Amino acid sequence: MRILRLPAPVVVACLCLAPFARPQDSHYWTNQYGTRATLLGGAVIGSVLDLSGTYYNPGGMCLIKDPQTLMAAKVIQYPHVSLAGNARGSVPCAVPLVLLLCFSFACQDKAALEKPGTQAQAEEQAMKTIRMEQMTWPEIKRAIESGFTTVVVAVGSTEQHGPHLPTMTDARIGEELSERVARKLGHSLQARTIEVGFSEHHLAFAGTISLKPETLLLILRDYADSLARHGFTRIVFIPTHGGNFATVKQAVEEARKAHPEIDVTGFTDMLGLIGILNRMSAEYGVSAEESGAHAGESETSMMMALEGGLVAADRFAPGYLGPFGEAEAKLMLEKGTSAITANGILGDPRRASAEKGKVYLEGLADFLVSKIGVKATNQK
Ligand SMILES: [Zn+2]
Repeated sequence: MRILRLPAPVVVACLCLAPFARPQDSHYWTNQYGTRATLLGGAVIGSVLDLSGTYYNPGGMCLIKDPQTLMAAKVIQYPHVSLAGNARGSVPCAVPLVLLLCFSFACQDKAALEKPGTQAQAEEQAMKTIRMEQMTWPEIKRAIESGFTTVVVAVGSTEQHGPHLPTMTDARIGEELSERVARKLGHSLQARTIEVGFSEHHLAFAGTISLKPETLLLILRDYADSLARHGFTRIVFIPTHGGNFATVKQAVEEARKAHPEIDVTGFTDMLGLIGILNRMSAEYGVSAEESGAHAGESETSMMMALEGGLVAADRFAPGYLGPFGEAEAKLMLEKGTSAITANGILGDPRRASAEKGKVYLEGLADFLVSKIGVKATNQK
């Protein structure tokens, strides 16, 4: 119903003015409290009684279908409510009320034209969540059938992130980024985050759990095969851990062959991801070395924004602060992270902040959407 989309101030204004509206040839009644209801277009708007039920509701607003019903109900059930008379002539507030309603309808139409995504956003807001693990299967089925045909999956890790960040870091950031990406893409759901990845190069540090690349590849294949059965037309994988990028790239290529009718996409440019983070840090005067590739200023800032209670600010310490490019990434994967950094950090978290983290998360989500593309790239 259109009136349900009225801005809250307009609704409040209309409700305040309604009791004063008195169109010509209307009838009104009084109760023992002396308040008055006025018949307006077949409905009573005022403050006498609720005739749809059996209770008396002075001060509330009541609506009935026709005046005869009201008359009969008064006589039978509410003898203390008497017909006070007919009102003729003055319409003190009806005109501004109508103008207000017209104006609000016009604003709604204009806003709808200016924001093409409004309908999708409204549908998303009507849904409690877009995270499928929090939805029931009928809700998911209904969403897919109503056009939510893209599904976004984060591919994170469970691994050491220095002495100050929890091992969930990559999975938590991935989950947040994927939800933001899904909302920005529109008409998208988010699948359960893959929380463990290929982290063999971090196994020298306690708490790291690593999948072999072939295990991760099988999981990604099973994800694609499962999601393809439900009617999604697009699957987007978002790895947020360096060790996963190569396997995600391979999995995307395989899934495209296995499901040619579905657009399968993955963001697989690890250095591009680190690069955009470093550029955003530079806006705050933080160097690329401090921003870092692992548990540095950028990643720590995002975790402060998301899970501040799990970040140990008293243990912030610099880690490896040299350049990080393909050679360093290769060395780290082959020899292990401990070959480069003793405390597990690539970067320096000491200038991290939650405020910056919020900016980085939003910037990263925008960057990913720009790289993934709103439109499908290999739809047949
Ligand atoms: Zn990380």
